[in-house]
Amino acid sequence: AKDEGRNVLRFFDPAMQTTLDERIGLERDLRLALDLGQFTPFYQAQVDREGRVLGAEVLLRWQHPERGMVSPAEFIPLAEATGLILPIGQWVLESACRQIDHWSGNDRLQHVRLAVNVSAREFRQPDFVDQVKHVLSETGADPARLRLELTESMVLEDVGGTFEKMEALKQLGIGFALDDFGTGHSSLAYLTRLPLDTLKIDSSFVFNLPDSHNDAVVAQTIISMARSLGLNVIAEGVETEAQRDFLALNHCHVYQGYLFSRPVPLEDFEKFCAASLEN
Ligand code: C2E
Ligand code: CA
Ligand code: CA
Ligand code: CA
Repeated sequence: AKDEGRNVLRFFDPAMQTTLDERIGLERDLRLALDLGQFTPFYQAQVDREGRVLGAEVLLRWQHPERGMVSPAEFIPLAEATGLILPIGQWVLESACRQIDHWSGNDRLQHVRLAVNVSAREFRQPDFVDQVKHVLSETGADPARLRLELTESMVLEDVGGTFEKMEALKQLGIGFALDDFGTGHSSLAYLTRLPLDTLKIDSSFVFNLPDSHNDAVVAQTIISMARSLGLNVIAEGVETEAQRDFLALNHCHVYQGYLFSRPVPLEDFEKFCAASLEN
């Protein structure tokens, strides 16, 4: 009986109750966030060796009225678990396509490619391809300026279905990057079959460059593999010149990280692009 009592006490652990309340509160707020206009796309530049902006990754930000800026690391998993990622993802895609179309005809910005993160749950929808087509035709965006970022793990979940959808979207001119590359268990065999145009080296392999011998070998291997498969390579999480120099020496094409720019609001990103072209 004593033990039982302890278990009951543990069950009503006030700290746990707070966490649960918080989660429920956050979920309720997340449901309203779209309608209340609390999301903003931020843009993080992707630059070449000379620092010219080639594109940007769209990273979602949630401005919560009381909590301030809630990190996507916190709300994306919740959005995925609740299914809210479907309308949210749709909104992000629409906003990216509207932006692409808005930049067309602008000398300084029309070449910029936007990369949008797609969750497994979004991509798995049977009508995902039609949704994307619809957004493209509604916005008038050039599909060649759009790149979707998929993760290794979601590709592995359903190789056949993924392959078909990727092919269909590729026919429209859309590109694909494999995100967080190196963290999953990709087999080279079907990696080569997927219609990818880019591999993104996960930041965990970049952080300890150039000192970590193991990470250096991983980075070099990914770069040379990508090159022999005819893929672009983007290194993420580049924070120092030493990291950039090591990657450049090993023929990495594109860099993304705080060394160049943090994810920033539209206006700042556009200024950054203009400045990068003047150099
Ligand atoms: P991710 O796709 O791997 O995005 C890269 C993350 O690394 C971003 O975190 C970015 O701000 C951060 N980062 C970039 N450069 C550096 C650097 O030099 N140093 C460090 N320490 N970090 C850097 P963020 O913006 O917090 O996003 C976290 C994750 O949330 C993303 O990881 C992505 O998986 C997810 N996410 C963000 N926006 C969306 C979205 O619109 N849709 C979906 N499905 N997921 C999203
Ligand atoms: Ca990404
Ligand atoms: Ca157009
Ligand atoms: Ca990533």
